[in-house]
Amino acid sequence: MSGDTLTGVGVSPGTAAGPVVQVAPPVRPPADEPAPADAEAATAQVSSALAAVAADLDAKSAAADEHAAPILKATAMIARDKGLAKAAAKQVGGGAGPATAIAAAVDEYAAQFEALGGYFAERVTDLRDVGSRAVAHVLGVPAPGVPTLTGPTVVIAHDLAPADTATLDREHVVAIVTAAGGRTSHTAILAAQMGIPAAVQVHGATDIAPGTTVAVDGDSGEVTVDPDMALIEAQREHRERRAAALARVSGPGRTADGHAVALLANIGGVDDAVAAGAQDLEGVGLFRTEFLYLSAQALPSVDEQAEVYRQVLAPFPGRRVVVRTLDAGADKPLAFANLGEEENPALGRRGLRLCQAKPELIDSQLEALAIAARDTGADVRVMAPMVATAEEAEWFAARVRAAGLPKSGVMIEVPAAALRSRHVLAEVDFGSLGTNDLAQYTMAADRMEGELSDLLDPWQPGVLDVVAAACAGGEATGKPVGVCGESAGDPLLALVLTGLGVSSLSMAPKKVPAVRFALSLHTLAECRDLATLALAARTAADAHEAVRAAAHEELTSVS
Ligand code: PEP
Ligand code: MG
Repeated sequence: MSGDTLTGVGVSPGTAAGPVVQVAPPVRPPADEPAPADAEAATAQVSSALAAVAADLDAKSAAADEHAAPILKATAMIARDKGLAKAAAKQVGGGAGPATAIAAAVDEYAAQFEALGGYFAERVTDLRDVGSRAVAHVLGVPAPGVPTLTGPTVVIAHDLAPADTATLDREHVVAIVTAAGGRTSHTAILAAQMGIPAAVQVHGATDIAPGTTVAVDGDSGEVTVDPDMALIEAQREHRERRAAALARVSGPGRTADGHAVALLANIGGVDDAVAAGAQDLEGVGLFRTEFLYLSAQALPSVDEQAEVYRQVLAPFPGRRVVVRTLDAGADKPLAFANLGEEENPALGRRGLRLCQAKPELIDSQLEALAIAARDTGADVRVMAPMVATAEEAEWFAARVRAAGLPKSGVMIEVPAAALRSRHVLAEVDFGSLGTNDLAQYTMAADRMEGELSDLLDPWQPGVLDVVAAACAGGEATGKPVGVCGESAGDPLLALVLTGLGVSSLSMAPKKVPAVRFALSLHTLAECRDLATLALAARTAADAHEAVRAAAHEELTSVS
């Protein structure tokens, strides 16, 4: 394997090299676990194992940041599920030992979740993680997951459980590699937010022996096993050259001929806001408000909401903060914001559709935001998720006006809204392309399905055509259209998007310098030429390659 290069999908840019730690695989019960002599004692063992797992996850959650805490809390809730404990007790009653009983109950539940599909199917990873931790507890072996790290480490896993990703030791992890996972998986989004190079879909990565040195390229998705010194040195030089190049430009985003493209941050809460507020960027292009409430059991009061929004807006007096109203449902379920089970949550009553059915959700948010905006002096603009029609945009704009907020906008992430953007945008002040969902719905490919990464590639010409249609509507109506999906942070794609007419790009703050640098090297006319090249390509790979070949040499030499 030495010197071999495995190729996956780069999801968080940068390079790094270091020794591998393989994330401990799930713990299974021994095949020959004897039937319990005392069923009552075995049942008690099951309960105490599940309780210990829940307590451990709660303790981790208390020490975690705002991204990790709700994920860990949600996983702890699975460990506390009475149905799971009951199912395991039933297995013990049938003669299974405690570890076998837990594993069997988890299998039973997982099959049910998988059959339900959608949101439930996505929770199977969390459920199996809980089961594996509980089995480890019964057997008295170390819990699965990332071991304690003592030095610079490349973490490799089949797929990281949300609880693992959320609690990664940021000081020691220099890169993350997974064999599964997708472009918009937890691993990808959190790695980008932390600025740690990462690659997913690297088949064969889990076969690399622990302790082996690997070099990871989070742009190309390449993982080189036992790299020679020349490669490590080349990566180091490249990092230094890149850092020096990026440091040459600062301030508002502009093309080489001075055309303004605002560079903004995607944030999920107060910590993100404080960090982004201190960086060289022009404000916030997407505040995912639902992230605040992933573990809330009830809709917080207007006063409670206003207090959190105040803290988020405080670092941005006079700067733009685009706040998205609750995007509950599908991959972001909220306990207090749903209309019961659905066959297919990604296509169900989520986002704005849910708020239309429960207007109190959106009205309390808008009221709280109006208070916070007044108190902080931030330039607050509110937008709705999952808008598909002009009527929905009209409904939302009226609500925003009634709350006394000055500007309303819509996410453009449903192909219908992009294709009919002139009518949708006519109702509001701005649009923001959510290319993560736009790719999912245009390509009919579940964004949580790592194996469909190629279809979810925002360079897909079909996706670019839909983006172009949305921009044409922006031009026709004179309404600004930005991008806040992950694609905005890809420097080459940012040029194409600028050429298509977008006026702002919002991304993980760590990605801003590279995008600013890319813009500074190209005129608007050049961006338009690059967009023409991308749209003319037959495949995603052709589009990417055509733009890469035509872009400024200095950009390709440092990216
Ligand atoms: C998107 O869909 O591109 C987007 C920015 O929203 P989210 O990723 O939160 O669905
Ligand atoms: Mg979306």
